[in-house]
Parts: sequence; structure tokens; C-alpha cells
Amino acid sequence: MFNSRNLSPALYYLFFSGEPEQQQRFFKELHFISIAILTFGLASWTITFSLTQPRASLDYANAALAATGMLIGLVMAAYAKSLQAIIVSGTISVLFIGFGFRVLMLGTEDPAFWVLPLGVMITLTTAPIFSGIAYYLGVSLGVWAILGLGHFPVHAQRADEYWPVLAVTISVIIGLALNIYFLVLRINNYRAQRDLATMAYTDGLTGLNNRRMFTQSARALQHTAQLPAFFLMIDIDDFKKINDAYGHDAGDEVLKKIADVIAGLSGDHLCGRLGGEEFAVIYQGEKQAACAFAAQLVDSVEAAFVPERKVSISIGLAELLKEVDLSHSYRRADESLYVAKKSGKNRYVLNAA
Ligand code: GH3
Ligand code: MG
Ligand code: MG
Repeated sequence: MFNSRNLSPALYYLFFSGEPEQQQRFFKELHFISIAILTFGLASWTITFSLTQPRASLDYANAALAATGMLIGLVMAAYAKSLQAIIVSGTISVLFIGFGFRVLMLGTEDPAFWVLPLGVMITLTTAPIFSGIAYYLGVSLGVWAILGLGHFPVHAQRADEYWPVLAVTISVIIGLALNIYFLVLRINNYRAQRDLATMAYTDGLTGLNNRRMFTQSARALQHTAQLPAFFLMIDIDDFKKINDAYGHDAGDEVLKKIADVIAGLSGDHLCGRLGGEEFAVIYQGEKQAACAFAAQLVDSVEAAFVPERKVSISIGLAELLKEVDLSHSYRRADESLYVAKKSGKNRYVLNAA
């Protein structure tokens, strides 16, 4: 499948293949409904077959082939693990449903009469399964071809000669509209949820992890971290004075700039804004490396504002202990921060206890 990131919007809807998370979400949403619709198709065919069979002269070899095809598609759908697998199994099953009904239709006295109602039923009921307009269009045209081949035009030279063609066209358009509607709904739903999740877990001003996300990830790290890890509590020095002297907006700019410095230096280490003018980092590494990192943060923040302003931060460090609650390391880092503030600010202090 294509990578939709590089595609124009038209192609995105035609061959839908959103980011992997989105595909997985769509897969979960569609898995059950595809199985249900394909089962319904197979069941409808089986019932129609048993009702038709006593009075019709059917091609049993083709009927068996159709039933096998439908069943294979259905089993594939049941075992599908991806959105692509749903499209492939849906295509196989729906085309065989079309073929199966053609076999039954050919056993009746007036096959041409049944092309329209069967085509409408099959193409409209299967419209939700296909994520990607092109896939659905391909399958529905396939169904119409399988059902209608050799039976159109039905009434050559008569007044209603073109009615069936008109009806097919309208049905294809309605099917497409349904298919697009389902797809757009799913896309919008996904985007809305993703945006809400982003808002719930990131800090609106700085774009860093917010307190909730930071705490949650830090707790996860307590269990998974291989190396020793250190909790860094970072607090801007005399920030109230910055706000008082230059205004709240300038204060916000300072917050953003410091957030950029922290995020830039942290790299893969977890960082976030805990609230107000307080930030935190979980540094994974040995004590010396953690202290060097803290020193670098202190120096880089100071350097970032030279020569316009004098802005600095203080940092309290404590080892992230794995066996106790996160709040324990948090409190110890806070104690060190207090010491850093007391002893002149613009520095880091490690809680060695
Ligand atoms: P210290 O060196 O002891 O940390 O002093 P401080 O002035 O930095 O600390 P204090 O806790 O007294 O003041 C923090 C200030 O941060 C007060 C509050 O108005 C400001 N502040 C908190 N959140 C925001 C924000 O989102 N934007 C701005 N501009 N200011 C904020
Ligand atoms: Mg503070
Ligand atoms: Mg402060």
C-alpha cells in the first residue's frame, strides 16, 4: 500500500492508508462489521440456494466454487490482522457473493430481471467495509460486471432500454457516497480523538509533556529503566521578577525558550513541564553523567538569554528509586532544589542521601 503522507488529498481518499496507528484503529472498527456483513452475504446466498435449488437447473460446479470462494474470503476476514487484509478478504468474498448469485440467477426463468436488485443489495450492503474509495469502486464495478455480463441491455429497442443502465449508475453513485461518508466519518473521528489525546497530554504553552504525561511515563520508566536514573526538578530563578519587570507575555516567551533548551538537551530522556515555571527531566545514566547534564542545562539556559536578560534556573537531583513510589524521588529532588535556591540559585544540587 502507499504511504499517504506523500499523497495528494484525492489519492489519500482513493487508496486510504493513514499512519499505522490510524490503520490499526480502522482495522479494529471494521473487523467485526466485515465479518458480520460477509457472513450475512454467505447466509443469504445459502438460503436463496436452498429455496431455488428444487425448481431450478443450477450449475452445481460453479455453485460449489462460489460457496468455497465466499468461505475462503470469510475465513480470511476472520483471521485478518490488518486493514489491508480486510480489503483483500472483503474483495474476494464480495466478488464470490456476486458470482454465487449469478449462478443462482442463471437457473431462473428471467435472469436479467434479477441483475438490478441483486447488484443493488450486494454493492450497497458492502459499502462500509472498504476503506479507500478506489477499492470499493473496483469491487462494486466487479460485482456489476459479474452479475450483468451478457444480460445488459435488457430490453434492446424498447422505450425503457436505458433504464437498467441508469439504475446501475445511480446505485454506483449512492454506494460511493455511502462509502465516502463512512470513510470521512472514520477519519474525522480518528483525528478528533488524536487531537484530544494530544491536548490531554501536552502542555499548551511549551509543547512539552504535561504533568500527567510526565508522571505517567516516569512511573513506567521506574519499572523498565535498565540504567540508574535521576529525577531533575528544574525551577526558574526569580521568575516572578521577570513577569513583574517585562510583563506576563515576556514571561511566557522565557518559559518557551527554556522549554526549548530543556527539550533540545534532553534528547531521548523524558522531560516535561510540571506546571508554572517548573520543569522536570528523568535522566537515564550514571550519577556523573546526570550531574554533567544538569550543569549543562544550567549553563545553556543562562547562555540562551545573553545578552538581553539575566535568566537562570536551579536544579535539584535525586536518584529515581525503583522500589518506592515516584513521589518519593520527587520529594527528594525538591529538597535539593530548595538547597540550590538557598545557596544562591543558578546551580544544581544532588541529593546524596
Ligand atoms: P524562585 O527563584 O524562588 O523560584 O522565585 P520565583 O519568583 O521564580 O518563584 P515564585 O514561585 O515566587 O513565582 C513563580 C511565578 O511564576 C509566579 C507566577 O506568576 C509565574 N507563573 C506561573 N505560571 C506562569 C505562566 O504560565 N506564565 C507566566 N508568564 N508566568 C507564570
Ligand atoms: Mg516554582
Ligand atoms: Mg521559580
